[in-house]
Amino acid sequence: MSETFQAPKGTFDLLPPDSELWLHVREVMAAPLRAAGYGYIETPVFEETALFERGVGESTDVVTKEMYSFTTRGDDRVTLRPEGTAGVVRSVVQHRLYAGQLPVKLWYSGSFFRYERPQAGRYRHFSQVGAEALGVDDPALDAELVALGVRAFSDLGLSRVELLLNSLGDRTCRPVYRERLQEFLRGLELDADTRRRIEINPLRVLDDKRPEVQKQVADAPVVGDSLCDDCRAHYDAVGRHLTDLGVAWTEAPRLVRGLDYYTRTTFEFVHDGLGAQSAVGGGGRYDGLSEDVGGPPMPGVGWALGVDRTVLAMRAEEVALPPASRVDVFAVPLGAEARARLLVVVDELRRSGVRADLAFGDRGLKGAMKGADRSGARFALVLGDRDLETGQVQVKTLASGEQVSVPIADVVDVVKESLR
Ligand code: AMP
Repeated sequence: MSETFQAPKGTFDLLPPDSELWLHVREVMAAPLRAAGYGYIETPVFEETALFERGVGESTDVVTKEMYSFTTRGDDRVTLRPEGTAGVVRSVVQHRLYAGQLPVKLWYSGSFFRYERPQAGRYRHFSQVGAEALGVDDPALDAELVALGVRAFSDLGLSRVELLLNSLGDRTCRPVYRERLQEFLRGLELDADTRRRIEINPLRVLDDKRPEVQKQVADAPVVGDSLCDDCRAHYDAVGRHLTDLGVAWTEAPRLVRGLDYYTRTTFEFVHDGLGAQSAVGGGGRYDGLSEDVGGPPMPGVGWALGVDRTVLAMRAEEVALPPASRVDVFAVPLGAEARARLLVVVDELRRSGVRADLAFGDRGLKGAMKGADRSGARFALVLGDRDLETGQVQVKTLASGEQVSVPIADVVDVVKESLR
């Protein structure tokens, strides 16, 4: 026998019946967006590497350590997308969507790739549903978008998702804060790597999870104290709108995010049942991103919700899960002629809206009835050669074992009627 293969490290297969849950989560996350005027966008799973270098930021862990990048046979440098915003902004700029109605509201759903150290809730291939609203810097838009995320989680039955909110300032006040922070950090006892990071991306030092670093940065200046008047007013307005929308949040003055493009509003949705990887979603405003990737000035705000971690959160909260995909009717043919006939009957049942399946292959009556039980169907249709002569099919109610004989020509109507 030749060697067998496993799914690559940090990835997993989605198999039925669990896979239903992923479909369900994506649908429920998308529903509030579609109801709020967001249109569906699909961009390629890979983009030019430079897009992420310039968009996500060359000093971020995502770009320096986690990208799946390769050179194609045509010598192009491409990267499997580690996140969705850069590709969406690239597409909006390329197709000049900003020239139409503003804001441009878009949502997406798909696979993302990061070469991370795999652990519970952290994978190398993961699934996100995301939303972006571009072309307007109205704080009401930030609040609307955040509230749509909150809705998604509550519609999924989750009650332990907390919203953390912060503002990172803009081009005017962020540099002032950055310098204040650098000055503070240079005075700490830190290793050489972290010292280098102070000069490149000091905000990320605040995000360092090591206790010895956390202890030292506890008194670091927070960005909120350095916000310019415009950013302060924007942040306060987002908060007021969220309150109007009945959304609760926690101020998180130390919340910084792993991607460089964020300005002003930043937020994270965290769940208390997930251990270290507690973020089930996150996002913020990225008013400079379009220009960073060669587009016109175009503010934007967006979020991405992690589908896989949301499933873990649903399991942690033991929320009622949607029923697995099942059929209502399972057809059991006894013989080749009966199979040919039932294949057509099952097709007719499906056309009239009844979920139906057929025992394929030669399993005999016992094996086929086992299949009927496993299918979750309410009725089994049993057809043998003798029944064919009389034009009758046996309709068996699986729960009770009760069986009636019905003319084949009427069986679709009879079954439909009984399922009402
Ligand atoms: P980010 O773009 O890092 O803010 O990610 C948004 C959301 O996607 C996070 O809150 C997670 O729920 C999810 N996510 C990010 N990276 C991973 C990963 N490696 N594995 C699973 N989920 C992830």
